[in-house]
Amino acid sequence: MIFPLIGNEKIRLSVENFVFQKRIPHAILIEGDYGTGKHTLANFLANSAVCAGQNPPCGICNNCKLFTANSHPDITVISPLEGKKNIAVKQIRDLRQEAYIKPHQAGKRVFIIDCADTMNSESQNALLKVLEEPPRTVMFILIAESKAAMLDTIISRCVVLGLTAPEFLKGVEYLSRNTQYEPDLIEEALKSSQNNIGKAVEILKGELGTETEIAANEFLNAMLKNDSLGMLTAVSKFEKNRIAADKFIKDLKYSVVQRIKKDTGSYFAKPLTEVYNLLPEYEQKLITNINLNLLFCSLTCKASQIFGGKNDRSYIG
Ligand SMILES: [Zn+2]
Repeated sequence: MIFPLIGNEKIRLSVENFVFQKRIPHAILIEGDYGTGKHTLANFLANSAVCAGQNPPCGICNNCKLFTANSHPDITVISPLEGKKNIAVKQIRDLRQEAYIKPHQAGKRVFIIDCADTMNSESQNALLKVLEEPPRTVMFILIAESKAAMLDTIISRCVVLGLTAPEFLKGVEYLSRNTQYEPDLIEEALKSSQNNIGKAVEILKGELGTETEIAANEFLNAMLKNDSLGMLTAVSKFEKNRIAADKFIKDLKYSVVQRIKKDTGSYFAKPLTEVYNLLPEYEQKLITNINLNLLFCSLTCKASQIFGGKNDRSYIG
C-alpha cells in the first residue's frame, strides 16, 4: 500500500523508512489541523504495525483483513466518551493495565489516543508512566490538533509527525483524481479551505459552509484561545472586500450565538455574549467608508481584551 497522504514529503520519507524497516517507533504523536489527514496516517501506521506481511501494510494477511474490517483485537482507540470534552483519567488507567497484556493476534498492540490534547495533566501523567517504560509489544499513536496543551515530558517521548495542508496544485491534482467534482469547484473549495483537503471535501459535499462561514468559525476558535494572530489570519482575506466583510460579521454573529447556546453556563458564555454585543457596531461601521484593515484590527483587539487581556488569563488554559 502506498503512503496515503499528499504533500508532507518529509513525513512521507520518515514514515516509509521506519515502516519499511519494520522499526516503527513505540510512541508517535501526529499533530495537525482538522482535515490534514491525521487519522489517515494513524490508520496507516496502526495497520503497518500489526501487519504480518513482507511489505506492510500488505492488505492480504489475516491481520490486515481484520484491520480493514475494523475488528482487529490488538488495536484500541481511545477518545473522549460521548458527551465529554476530555479523555478521562480512568480511560488512561484502563489503557495502562491493558498495555501489559500480550497481543492477541499480531506482534504488537496498538493504542490510538485520539484527541490526545484533551487529556488533562492527571491523565497525561498517568500515560507518562507507561510511555516511560513501555512493554516491548506496545505502540502508542497520539493524535492532536495542537501539542501546545500537552506536557513536554509526553512530547519528548514521542516521535512527532506534524501534518500540514499540501500545496494548492497538489491538492487540485489529488482531488481531481479522487473525486468526481468539476475542476473549478475543486479549485474554489481548496481556496476556501486554504488547501486543507478534508475541509475542501466537506465544502464540495456541501457539508461545510462558505468561505465567510469557515472564517467566522476560525475566528471564533482563535478567539476562545485568545490567539490574536489566529483571529487576524481568519479575516485577512476579506480586507479588500466589503461585501465579504459584511457577510463575515453576520456569520460570526451566528457562530457566536451557536457557541453560547452550546456552552450555556460555561465560562465562555459571558465573554462570548460581550463579543456578540459588540458586533452590531461593526456592522454599522461597514456602512461607512472605514478601512477594513482597521476595522478587523479593532475587532481583534477588543475580542482579545475580552478573552484574556483584562485579567491576563486566557479562557482556555
Ligand atoms: Zn498485512
